[in-house]
Amino acid sequence: MDYISTRGSAPALDFAGATLAGLANDGGLYVPRQWPRFTEAEIAAMAGLPYAELAARVMQPFVGDCLTPERLLELTRQAYGRFAHKAVTPLKQLDEQQWLLELFHGPTLAFKDVALQLLGLLFEEFLGRGGDPLTIVGATSGDTGSAAIDAVAGRARVEIFMLHPKGRVSEVQRRQMTTVLAPNVHNIAIEGTFDDAQAMVKRMFNDAAMTDRFAIGAVNSINWARLMAQVVYYFAAGLQLGAPHRKVAFSVPTGNFGDVFAGYVAAQMGLPIERLIVATNVNDILHRALTTGDYSAGTVTPTAAPSMDIQVSSNFERLLFDLGGRNGAAIAAQMAGFESTKAMQLTNAQREGAAALFTSARADADDMARALRWAWDQTGELLDPHTAIGLHAAQHAGIDPAVPVVTLATAHPAKFGDAVERATGQRPVLPARVGDLFEREERLAELPGDYAAIADYVAACAVPRG
Ligand SMILES: *Cc1c(COP(=O)(O)O)cnc(C)c1O
Repeated sequence: MDYISTRGSAPALDFAGATLAGLANDGGLYVPRQWPRFTEAEIAAMAGLPYAELAARVMQPFVGDCLTPERLLELTRQAYGRFAHKAVTPLKQLDEQQWLLELFHGPTLAFKDVALQLLGLLFEEFLGRGGDPLTIVGATSGDTGSAAIDAVAGRARVEIFMLHPKGRVSEVQRRQMTTVLAPNVHNIAIEGTFDDAQAMVKRMFNDAAMTDRFAIGAVNSINWARLMAQVVYYFAAGLQLGAPHRKVAFSVPTGNFGDVFAGYVAAQMGLPIERLIVATNVNDILHRALTTGDYSAGTVTPTAAPSMDIQVSSNFERLLFDLGGRNGAAIAAQMAGFESTKAMQLTNAQREGAAALFTSARADADDMARALRWAWDQTGELLDPHTAIGLHAAQHAGIDPAVPVVTLATAHPAKFGDAVERATGQRPVLPARVGDLFEREERLAELPGDYAAIADYVAACAVPRG
């Protein structure tokens, strides 16, 4: 399998190349040249497999010759062996129609672990075959940073620099990053907002003085390998609810459109999906795009679901590319227009293609709190605010009552304890596996929101090419 850029002019790469590159050098995102497709019989034969075996089965077509089936299975067993639940992503029934897929049993309590635990091992595997040492630079509003740091801490030939906006991540989130003392982990608190941090990272990817000296890699969901790993749990849930003989709908708390795009990929691979419900908070660019075709970014409003406080959803480009006949030149022009005006219209083909599978819903703070209370009062489950937005959307999407609806539970409630307690009066308990987080030593650098200071810091600690 090889990978092509959504903007049509970067070189095609194999799976290992796409994993290490992150972003394509024409500014586009890598996608597989075609979608692999399983037959009904092949899907039926996956029922009952342990998670790590299912993962290897679903991902093998994407990996191609870059890993043998035996090696891929060793890596999935290692990645998912660290999860606190034997089922890795257990499914829970809430009422006759509604289900929860718990994706937060990894080491840092959010679904990001499902993909990043594997990505850390893939980096180590591919870097071990030679080439330049990798310098990962990322910005985080909380969950990606902790999951990525846990996944690469102590691994050979990779240094990670994670920028977070000083004072704007929760204490649990900060400590999950800053108490990792491995020498290849560099936490940087910058003066400014998440958008400021992200702008500096993007600038570094485009700064030849840095990219000539260092091989800079990405851990956010522009990296294809992350989405690939997330396809697996759609199969896991679908199989448990009767796939391939029965359809299932999914409701996905959405920010950067990575998680729900993995559901779209599962559908292309043959999993019978009735609907993908895109759940947004008041930062609703995707809801507007899917209902009216108008994709225009406003300013970000901070909410109790900060991982969805996004106005530009990077992975939406992958969907627009696929629905628009995979025309890289057309996407390059469409995205250039968006980058200059912060607004674009979807084409008819893109709108109609999206409407065939996606539905969307927007939840404000009251909707979120109501869904949190419903789950606690009716089922005894404490949800995190992101998951509550997904559940609200699941309950209001008008899905045929005969079709099960699975809400992706993207974070553990204890990661957002204050918001959960405000809505329900219940304080969620941090799981024992992160128990001594508040006693551990922290290490971080504090820098001004100034690109030169950050580039100097990275250059002083990173390992150059060659
Ligand atoms: C990252 C995140 C999301 C959004 O996922 P995307 O793939 O960016 O759409 C939702 N909920 C939680 C808890 C997250 O950490």
